[in-house]
Amino acid sequence: MKYLIKTYGCQMNVHESEKLAGILENMGYKVCEDEKDADLILFNTCAIRESAEQKIFAHIGELKKLKAQKKDMIIAICGCMSQQTGYPENILKKFPFVDIIFGTHNISELEDFILKRKSLKKKVVDIKENEDISNRDLMPKKRTSGINAWVNIMYGCNNFCTYCIVPYVRGREVSRPINDIKKEVENVVKEGYKQVTLLGQNVNSYGNDVGDENVNFANLLKTLDEIEGDFRLTFMTSHPKDISKEVIDIIAGSKHILHYLHLPVQSGSDKVLKAMNRRYTAENYFEKIEYAKSKIPDIEFSSDIIVGFPGETEEDFNDTMELVKKVQYEQLFMFIYSKRKGTVAEKMGNQVDLATKKDRLKRLIALQNEIGSKVAEKYIGKTVDVLVSDVHPKKQGYLIGTTFTNKNVNFAGDRSLIGKTVKVKIQSSKLTVLYGIMEEN
Ligand code: SF4
Repeated sequence: MKYLIKTYGCQMNVHESEKLAGILENMGYKVCEDEKDADLILFNTCAIRESAEQKIFAHIGELKKLKAQKKDMIIAICGCMSQQTGYPENILKKFPFVDIIFGTHNISELEDFILKRKSLKKKVVDIKENEDISNRDLMPKKRTSGINAWVNIMYGCNNFCTYCIVPYVRGREVSRPINDIKKEVENVVKEGYKQVTLLGQNVNSYGNDVGDENVNFANLLKTLDEIEGDFRLTFMTSHPKDISKEVIDIIAGSKHILHYLHLPVQSGSDKVLKAMNRRYTAENYFEKIEYAKSKIPDIEFSSDIIVGFPGETEEDFNDTMELVKKVQYEQLFMFIYSKRKGTVAEKMGNQVDLATKKDRLKRLIALQNEIGSKVAEKYIGKTVDVLVSDVHPKKQGYLIGTTFTNKNVNFAGDRSLIGKTVKVKIQSSKLTVLYGIMEEN
């Protein structure tokens, strides 16, 4: 029996697909690459943007013919899209050939769903509103992210940013016990993973649901940094309102934690930040950046920015441009605001027209290209420690890796170096990528 999982969206979904693959392999399924060979195709979906949804619908639709030829093939849909109110019914109406639909809270029950589908010969639709998270982390995992191991530290989000659907489809914040996380990190380090990425929608509010002041993100980082072994530690995603000075101090004094912070600002205008319900000001945000720079001089920052949020004026957009200039991000993930059904921002007046949004995005990209190139240029001539993650996907004989500040590096080398940390002298750069020559190690 063969399976194929199609994963859409964020790293949370990538890791959940690793858990789903673990269940399937435990049942005796083997992975395949071609839909025609699959006995089970599972779509792990994303609901963050309408364009993602349209893409997923198109992909499900393409399977109609194959399913008609292979009646016993199981098509299953899970993830954020199926968790939305009314979606399971809509999916079945549009695609009556779908066999199983489940949501974000019951992925640990995949085996039951498949067995039910096979024995009862009935469609299985099972969406739950909450879950016992311990089940989810007891699941076997088939890690597929090379030298990196994802480790969930919490699930859900309490923030309700007005543009975001996540709190509605992932529920409220629930933290995993610190000892369970520690055990998982110790295990992956023993297994030879060289980078551990802690996952949560807002890692900085880790422990807030526990009601014990010692259970917090700073203490978690401290505990994990004490684990012996050759590994790097990083985390995503941070919320600027919650990241504490203590967390920054711990990074500054740590052995394993990358000197890199992805701190999504979304806008540089206080008015827009308020409308987004982000609960910080551009000034608060920049103070945190300054504090981190003072404690960790080589730290690099990246961020997410939404342009054209409802009500964003030219002046607001200029505030964003000014903040970007002040921070000097190594990399920015820039998006045009698009309406998301079921969110508060969908109903806001003053929607910005598409041409203006596109124009602002273009200007922001141009600015960031300039800044990103300048940030990269400062590495030229320096020798940096690079953790080799893989062979270059296009250039034969080349490797890809990252510095301790998470900059991408390309250089010539042999695949036997994957997972090792080597010294590379940087010779040139292009936008965010550094190019160098490996030194004798
Ligand atoms: S913090 Fe805001 S943007 Fe992030 S998942 Fe929660 S609601 Fe969405």
